[in-house]
Amino acid sequence: MSIDRPTKILTAIDLDADGKRFGALVVPYSRNDSAWGSVRIPIVVIRNGDGPTALLIAGNHGDEYEGQIALRDLARALDPIDVTGTVIILPGLNFPAVRAATRCSPIDGGNMNRSFPGSADGAVTSMIAHYVATVLVPRADLVLDLHSGGKTLDFVPFAATHRLPDKAQEARAIAAVEAFAAPISVVMLELDAEGMLDTWVESLGKLFVTTELAGGGSSTRRSNQVAAVGVRNVLKHMGILAGEPEIVTPTRLLDMPDERCFVAAEHTGIHEPLVDLGDDVSEGQPVARIHFLDEPSRDPAVYVARRNGVLIGRHFPGLVQSGDFLASVGIDL
Ligand SMILES: [Zn+2]
Repeated sequence: MSIDRPTKILTAIDLDADGKRFGALVVPYSRNDSAWGSVRIPIVVIRNGDGPTALLIAGNHGDEYEGQIALRDLARALDPIDVTGTVIILPGLNFPAVRAATRCSPIDGGNMNRSFPGSADGAVTSMIAHYVATVLVPRADLVLDLHSGGKTLDFVPFAATHRLPDKAQEARAIAAVEAFAAPISVVMLELDAEGMLDTWVESLGKLFVTTELAGGGSSTRRSNQVAAVGVRNVLKHMGILAGEPEIVTPTRLLDMPDERCFVAAEHTGIHEPLVDLGDDVSEGQPVARIHFLDEPSRDPAVYVARRNGVLIGRHFPGLVQSGDFLASVGIDL
């Protein structure tokens, strides 16, 4: 493990020249079916002179789609002449997971967003994280990492940042989140922040914006529209694209002050949501039930909200296991 060792990832792409270039980060991956093989991570660089640098990422988790769609569209559409500064786009960061439609890498099991800052000589996921952490993030003024719920979660579309020790940095991050202009903006609480790209970028004092844009392992017309508008809005907010952010609906700013914003399953069975995403909930209100598969005579277990607020996330599949995330509530700021 060494953050200080140079990367083994090769790329022919020039990060500093003006114009638009599509290329790949080539990660060495020697294996039974390809002795001198590699994994190719798509990268796009669009630069026009001096100015701020935005690093736009999707496919950090392979089964989350709005960001992957929005960044592919943006990469094809952006004309360098409309850009001031640099846009670096990674539309499918954990590419092995993207190709397998899984959250984590099928190669090494790596969860990209628990792998930062990674290691130059680690497994494939760790090597990719290390390249982003040590080569790309230091160049960036802002990192936008587009997530959704994946196969197991679903969200009301929101952009988010975190409470930060540096209150000036926090205020700038919240302003960037509000500029994204999703229907909801959240100052999010992470229960497991170690190893996240978020944490690495914020520790360097840089602007970080993330999203949760629906889920269930697919996307919708509405959630894709939120992503497409939001990505361009953040570039406008940074002065990289001209014009003011486009506000489709005024955003509702929510907070997640403590772990009572989360509801976790303590039983295994059939998941019955009692509240829809975006609905207001009050403390003590039932939000979900779990029906016991082999005990039809037994009343289902009832789970209640532990905060007044808005249901912003929920477990997606019909079956739920003890220990799974069940629901989350955001509180009006
Ligand atoms: Zn994710």
